[in-house]
Amino acid sequence: MQKEINRQHTKENESVKSGKVWLVGAGPSDAGLFTLRGKAVLEQADVVVYDKLVGQGVLGLIPSGTELIPVGKVSGYHPIPQHQINEILLEEALKGKKVVRLKGGDPFVFGRGGEELELLCERGVPFEIVPGITSAISVPAYNGIPVTHRDFCSSLHIITGHTKKSEEAEVDYEALVKVGGTMIFLMGVSAMPKICKGLLEAGMRKDMPAAILERGTTAHQRRVVSDLTNLPRDAEKAGIQTPAIIVVGEVCSLADQFHWAEDRPLGGLKIAVTRPRDRNSTLASMLSDQGAEVVLLPTIETEAILENTGLRENLKEIQKYQWIAFTSPAGVKVFYDEMQKMRMDIRSLNGLKFAAIGTGTKKAIEEKGIFVDLMPDVYSGEALGHALAERLKKEEKEGDRPFLLLPRAKIGTQEVTRPLDEAGISYVDLPVYETIDLEPNDMVFYDETVDYVAFTSASTVRGFTKMYPNIDYSKIEAVCIGEQTAAQARVFDMKISIAERATMESMVDCLLYKKEGERA
Ligand code: SAH
Repeated sequence: MQKEINRQHTKENESVKSGKVWLVGAGPSDAGLFTLRGKAVLEQADVVVYDKLVGQGVLGLIPSGTELIPVGKVSGYHPIPQHQINEILLEEALKGKKVVRLKGGDPFVFGRGGEELELLCERGVPFEIVPGITSAISVPAYNGIPVTHRDFCSSLHIITGHTKKSEEAEVDYEALVKVGGTMIFLMGVSAMPKICKGLLEAGMRKDMPAAILERGTTAHQRRVVSDLTNLPRDAEKAGIQTPAIIVVGEVCSLADQFHWAEDRPLGGLKIAVTRPRDRNSTLASMLSDQGAEVVLLPTIETEAILENTGLRENLKEIQKYQWIAFTSPAGVKVFYDEMQKMRMDIRSLNGLKFAAIGTGTKKAIEEKGIFVDLMPDVYSGEALGHALAERLKKEEKEGDRPFLLLPRAKIGTQEVTRPLDEAGISYVDLPVYETIDLEPNDMVFYDETVDYVAFTSASTVRGFTKMYPNIDYSKIEAVCIGEQTAAQARVFDMKISIAERATMESMVDCLLYKKEGERA
């Protein structure tokens, strides 16, 4: 026992010296199918070495600042040969790093995971395996095909349609036909006619149900259900391409009855969410709950203004104000963070009244233990400005001398302040954060497979167009949170839909309505 403990101890010490490799399965594509363990490991990685088949949703979970090494393989063409990938893993680990090797599906199901471990083992580099959900099982499931069913089969075979280089698969079709059961071929798109022929020649029924399932678990997954004789022709007609899996067996006939993924309210739609990273989870999860594939594509980031003496001075004298109005959760956060640094708590805000531009900001204020006194019916800067002007004017008439603090973005729009100026309200416009445009990245990006882009502010539209200066904006279906955002999208000639109310719920409704229209 003691020996065991000692050994583990040395192992831990070694791992500190040499770093460690985690071989992680990313699942078939849908980020919701990525494991909790995988996510936890990814969040601590120093470097991520990833494959072509890893879904954008999973790549989007990699924290910014993590070093990335793409080693993507395209069928028939290996930009980075396997032995080199093995060496990259070793080299990075020997630098003392936490290395995550992220692979599509499960790392050990035709993922060459074993090969990648050999060199690490030889050199004594510690590693862990995080299994993933293999496409062999999940892609049929997302297409309504249970890979086993008591009425139809008693075994399941996962077979490669591709062995080494371009050599034909060495599959013993006769043995397969003899055993029976559901057969799943991975990497078999180009070899499909041969696979079907092989099974037929080995004596399988000509009308055995068979299917090919393309880009499974993504918004644009497609399936062709046919039989062994006609599958090659039907798949060619449909233009099926890799990645796809071939399923042969009675269970394929169940897809007709059990299909579901594309039938969800937003099924079949790929939607890019451009909100800043720290703010995009609500909309993203609401959209994926309705069946959409979500791409997190932050185009801007908010950053607190450093050494903000203006904020500090105003906080010291906060009691000279009667009102504080916030126009974004980012503003609330920076404000309270500074208060904490100055060791002020909510008691120092005693007596002050609070206004919020909309529900998101209201929630952020309430999380700090303060209920909001004013929120406009329409969630826009202009409406907030008018509501404040009206309320403060009234208070003035009643004999008060209301003074308002407006902690917000450095370049705040005049929509809020114009009504205040017109009404002669005294206020201080206090910059607390800046909006920074983000650079495009190679992992998660906009391309023509995106059906809608959700914009939650004019600055996300500007950020998007700066990030992608050379695309045809007139092809973009923009779903905008409100008029101001839409006005910015109009400048770039995008196709526009506007949410009825400026809320995340209303943006989802707007998409549901559009999808409904598409279906009708
Ligand atoms: N380790 C992976 C398989 C890697 S081999 C896993 O467990 O899923 C690559 C093959 O997997 C592709 O050629 C294709 O046959 C299949 N594949 C992977 N992802 C897929 C997807 N989303 N839809 C359809 N087939 C997929």
